[in-house]
Amino acid sequence: MASRVIPVDPFDLVIFGGTGDLARRKILPALYRRFVAGQFERDTRLIGAARGAMDAEGYRAFARDALAEFAPELAGRKRALADFLAMLDHVTLDARGEEGWDILAEKIRKDRIRAFYFSVGPTLFGDLARRLQRHGLAHGDARIVVEKPFGHDLESARALNRGLARHFDEHQIYRIDHYLGKETVQNLMAIRFGNVLFEPLWNSQYVDHIQITVAESVGVGGRGEYYDRAGAMRDMVQNHLMQLLCLIAMEPPAKFDPDAVRDEKLKVIRALDPVAPGAVVRGQYEGTDTLPDYRTEAGNPESTTESFIALKLHVSNWRWAGTPFYLRTGKRLRERTSEIAVVFKDAPHSIFGPEAGRHRNILTIRLQPNEGIELGVTIKEPGPGGMRLIDVPLDMTFAEALGPEEADFPDAYERLIMDVIRGNQTLFMRGDEVEAAWAWTDPVIAEWEAAGTAPLPYATGSSGPDDALMLMHRDGRRWREIRP
Ligand code: NAP
Repeated sequence: MASRVIPVDPFDLVIFGGTGDLARRKILPALYRRFVAGQFERDTRLIGAARGAMDAEGYRAFARDALAEFAPELAGRKRALADFLAMLDHVTLDARGEEGWDILAEKIRKDRIRAFYFSVGPTLFGDLARRLQRHGLAHGDARIVVEKPFGHDLESARALNRGLARHFDEHQIYRIDHYLGKETVQNLMAIRFGNVLFEPLWNSQYVDHIQITVAESVGVGGRGEYYDRAGAMRDMVQNHLMQLLCLIAMEPPAKFDPDAVRDEKLKVIRALDPVAPGAVVRGQYEGTDTLPDYRTEAGNPESTTESFIALKLHVSNWRWAGTPFYLRTGKRLRERTSEIAVVFKDAPHSIFGPEAGRHRNILTIRLQPNEGIELGVTIKEPGPGGMRLIDVPLDMTFAEALGPEEADFPDAYERLIMDVIRGNQTLFMRGDEVEAAWAWTDPVIAEWEAAGTAPLPYATGSSGPDDALMLMHRDGRRWREIRP
């Protein structure tokens, strides 16, 4: 059974930064896949815009190469490719100059949904918003999509929000966090609010703690310069991990509607306690015989930026008082794996005696690779050896549970771009959410900057610095293994 595809209304989409890395690797392949899936019609315009001189033919050639590399599974679809490329156009313009904007304005049709993807650095967001307004492209139904990083701290995020708000209403602004576009992340809401099974247990009475791990095996690579100014806290925790935490911890919204969901997420961020200095561990990866260390890769021999961070957080509200949330993320770790684990408390009394050992239910939500959900339950070990208990997983790997075709769901960018066209903001961050996340992040960073502490070294291919393990051991807990 193939997944159901509900076509979207006709639209014109402009990709500012249409010749950049993100457009090449993510945006154009995502659009192409949705086109092949039948989600939009040929009467659509996809316009790249950048400073480099290029005509429509040149942009089609650029896109053809990008699709060959980043959507190779569709290489045989020659007809679809020709139809897709025919929709592409290019306008040469500078976000900071006037030339080219009239040409762009002429190409955008008035009776279509119009979307503008700001796939450029945040320093250009304000210029683009202003010029869209000036050229009559900002009104009513227009949407803008902005990429991370949305600010470097609270002050810069506020300035970005103000710059956009001068020309666009909040309902027109789509701040992308591609983690929110992942199938499992949305499934988290389905699991919590679509079943009676979990919600009664979803609180500090039954949940011992929650762990969120986003581990990457690669280093900073070509992003060294940007990354060294940001670090794991700004690059990953303030946005992606914070969003995951919100979805896990939030109260049930009254309905699945963008503002209802985002109101509840905002309350979680506002309920976060300040982080105690001892509850943060920062690390920097070491090199190997073949791989450079962080400082070499980042091109900064004195760098004190963290490529790994682990934190212990508390959400101070009735539901979660007393249940710690442990977050960790880093580069050059053992495996590329992302998961959320809800670790339930021990049964209040073991009728099987101490020799049965300690057993816990753990609900694991795997984001990557191999998206799926697993519930660890305790059963009797089969056989005649008496009442010995073991933990086994009730595994719902989507590919197995749903069949490979149903589980072949769109990647995050595909879903999010189509949500922009549909006008559905549920999976995008609202301005106040982003500011609240920075308001919580800034003092944590200020604390370690004031203390002048350097990140701890950790070996490439490890699970981070030993102190991160201690963060949990001190509490009588341990991290789940980072494994595929
Ligand atoms: P990039 O490869 O440097 O591309 C930048 C694009 O913007 C190019 O098309 C460039 O073309 C255009 N551009 C630059 N200055 C411009 C101006 N003044 N007016 C009009 N166009 C201009 O950057 P990227 O990696 O695609 O990233 C774009 C944004 O997405 C950044 O904010 C980045 O942080 C964010 N992001 C990227 C990734 C990723 O995987 N690459 C992931 C998440 C977020 P010209 O030089 O010809 O103008």
